Amino acid sequence: MLQSLQNIILRMVAQGDELQATLERLCVEVEYLLPGAVASILTLDDQGRLHPCVGPSLPMSYSIALDNLEIGPAVGSCGSAAFLGEAVIVDDIEHDPRWAEFKTLALPHSLRACYSNPIFGSKGKILGTFALYFRDARAPSILEQTIVESCLPLCMIAMERHERLREYRRLAFTDVLTGLPNRAKFNVAMDEMLPGDWALLLVDVDNLKVVNDTFGHAAGDDLIASAARGLLSVVSPRAVYRLGGDEFAIVLEPASGTEAENIAAEFARKVHQPTLCAGHTVFPSITVGIAHSEQRYSAEEVRHFADLALYHAKDKARGGFVTYDAALTSTIAQRYEVVQSVATALRDDRFEAWYQPIVRIDTGEIVGVEALARMRLVTGEVLPAAAFHEATKDAHVAASLTRTMIKHISMDLGSWLRSGIPIQHVGINLSAADFQCEDFPESLQAAFAREGVPLHHAILEVTESVYLGGRDQIVAKKIASMRAAGFKIALDDFGTGFASLTHLITIPVDLIKIDKSFTDRLGDDDVGVAIVEGILHIAKRMGVPVVAEGVETPAQAEMLLTRGCTLGQGYLYAKAMPASEMGVLLRARGQKTDKVAARVNVGGAPGRSLLIQKGKARRVDASNF
Ligand code: C2E
Ligand code: CA
Ligand code: CA
Repeated sequence: MLQSLQNIILRMVAQGDELQATLERLCVEVEYLLPGAVASILTLDDQGRLHPCVGPSLPMSYSIALDNLEIGPAVGSCGSAAFLGEAVIVDDIEHDPRWAEFKTLALPHSLRACYSNPIFGSKGKILGTFALYFRDARAPSILEQTIVESCLPLCMIAMERHERLREYRRLAFTDVLTGLPNRAKFNVAMDEMLPGDWALLLVDVDNLKVVNDTFGHAAGDDLIASAARGLLSVVSPRAVYRLGGDEFAIVLEPASGTEAENIAAEFARKVHQPTLCAGHTVFPSITVGIAHSEQRYSAEEVRHFADLALYHAKDKARGGFVTYDAALTSTIAQRYEVVQSVATALRDDRFEAWYQPIVRIDTGEIVGVEALARMRLVTGEVLPAAAFHEATKDAHVAASLTRTMIKHISMDLGSWLRSGIPIQHVGINLSAADFQCEDFPESLQAAFAREGVPLHHAILEVTESVYLGGRDQIVAKKIASMRAAGFKIALDDFGTGFASLTHLITIPVDLIKIDKSFTDRLGDDDVGVAIVEGILHIAKRMGVPVVAEGVETPAQAEMLLTRGCTLGQGYLYAKAMPASEMGVLLRARGQKTDKVAARVNVGGAPGRSLLIQKGKARRVDASNF
């Protein structure tokens, strides 16, 4: 009989039946074998308190009364057995001192005697108790004791398996680094959300990749942990999930009015504190996308909207937050259209390289040009790059734009040089996607070689975030090899990217282009001037020349000059123009070399060189670039 009981219970454990069902079956089987006995199993928690687990024949009110009972040397039969770690026989509840405080609970239910055993786990820890109650005051028989003793290992197996499953489940739903519920748990939570008064905040930790790449993964982990702490200082831990990588989610319920937005602002304040990450001081910042269910949107829709809002925020409101609304969908749809129209224009060869001069502010001479992409519409209208800049965030579009631009630029340069037009440098804008291309920069070198243009005429313009953003410093390494090959590198839009100035000045570059936003601030306020002065000062110390972008007024030019910035680019001098016009302007105002500037191989024929330029005017000051 015992054998069959064991088989039943072991099969249930093996099948993965619920603990409650398994132990309840055990009690029922025991009561069947021992008529008159009432079986009960309690569990013991880590705080030394008992909780009713199963007791199919015990009155519910009695089980509930025992919940949370703290074990002790004289706490009924079970409390004492768990405390002492040995079997406790109470043959008369009414008169036993150990039941003094509890007998009023038991006697009304005709429970007169109780024999309890501790259930030991495999490592000796007490997991709970297994008890038999009797309706009359008596001790357990030998048979009763034997049966209870043979049930104890079954209880142990069932309880430990249950505990292990719970731990597996907990781990499967927990992010190791932060201890927060993970993406799997988030998916489960989302499945349970109905349209209602709740909001979802998707949080992205800015620059995690940069921190990982520059300071190592330990620093990245510290950054994530500190961001998590920031979030937890604002909302309850139950609301925060780490979705992986640099992404967190917060489910806010209820979320009335602008509560979600207020919380997002509070997050930014809490997170944006100087933080020590593996010994490096980092200024963490986060970007948040918010969507509200508004009683009508399903969890899936809210998730999609929050995603769109975050995507948009990362682009337009880094370090801040964006709340989803219907207009956002159309903005994103528009971007998609732009990408499509640019891709079509690239296919139809409707892109042109236009050129904007870079001048010496003191003399007005043109020391170089920057090539800017222009898209010709089918109507003939020409669009500036700013109008389709969005599209270049698409890696395919960006790479193919660069290919087209390089083709035009190398041809224009070759023809200028061959016709003796004084041109020193052409700035070529690169994007992150270019550094992912297998054939880059070899394709660029090949294009220049085809036109016989020496590489030093090219200044590759990269922004700080592109320079520093590549995984494992791929970009920085590629740039180093490109410099070694003879290309020059300009740091574009200086001052708008990664925050650490001290970090930036360690990047090897040949030219710094101060972003237009700083030129605009010249004259506005003292801080703007101070920043430009600071940049100029650092650049001078590094021996790197500086170009001020977006110079529009003579006053700005004057201020730049008095602060030692001798090179400028902007509408004050000229807007971008087609190659033919630029050729004319260069012939008139191009800075010339004082000796033979370059010999250009034509048509690839070895040894045949063309004297392109004999200098007559000013000398080219090597320090200009
Ligand atoms: P950028 O590299 O900072 O280029 C300077 C932009 O400022 C150009 O706009 C130029 O026309 C404009 N600009 C120049 N001087 C002034 C001024 O005095 N005032 C004002 N308000 N604007 C001025 P554009 O051509 O629309 O280019 C915008 C951005 O598009 C560029 O910014 C660059 O990041 C990107 N871009 C342009 N051409 C290419 C290209 O061939 N490849 C790639 N990857 N990006 C390009
Ligand atoms: Ca540029
Ligand atoms: Ca720029």
